[in-house]
Amino acid sequence: MTESAGKKALVLFSGGQDSTVCLAWALARFAEVETVGFDYGQSHAVELECRDKVRAGMAALDPAWAARLGPDHMIRLAELGQVSETALTRDVEIEMGENGLPTTFVPGRNLLFFTYAAALGYRRGAQVLVGGMCETDYSGYPDCRADTIKALEAAISLGMDKSFTLATPLMWIDKAATWSLAKELGGEALVDLIIEETHSCYRGDRSQRHDWGYGCGTCPACELRARGHAAFVAAGA
Ligand code: ZN
Repeated sequence: MTESAGKKALVLFSGGQDSTVCLAWALARFAEVETVGFDYGQSHAVELECRDKVRAGMAALDPAWAARLGPDHMIRLAELGQVSETALTRDVEIEMGENGLPTTFVPGRNLLFFTYAAALGYRRGAQVLVGGMCETDYSGYPDCRADTIKALEAAISLGMDKSFTLATPLMWIDKAATWSLAKELGGEALVDLIIEETHSCYRGDRSQRHDWGYGCGTCPACELRARGHAAFVAAGA
């Protein structure tokens, strides 16, 4: 076992593909794993409804995972949706904004998520906070950058006088590699669970089933997920 075996992890878990792979990654490593979700008034709140099914599905995949999977927590951050004018929280077109960032960017979101997760982790005794941020094929979100996460890890650890590790296992891999990592961690069964039960579509559309899962098929989140899945399949993984 690795040195992480005795540690407790808290996974930022939205019910999407990336955070599901992060949850599998944590279950494969840590003795105890809890999950936390955030309700910030996102228009694709349907992803929150996927969370229970995904958690149950993960537990059913492996008895060891079932034994390690602890409680789920939900934190309401409705004010974040009120102060942000973005395509995820208001009726705003999904497009590139004048600031060079997509209108799906919610300023401060990941900073708040990790800070709240740390406050919860402080109480729950979790030393490791896991998030699905990714710098490889991200949408230009500055709070997904490795430098941001590193600085936040230092700020949180200092500010709470407790050493936290902010783990981001997807930081340097692309979407195709995220699918491969899922297969590596949980086999074909985990890949199927991700296709059937996780949600990524920004529009919250679950009426159309594609070979990569449910979604509108045209928003940036769907396009990224579809492209990654196609590359994963083409690689014969
Ligand atoms: Zn979509």
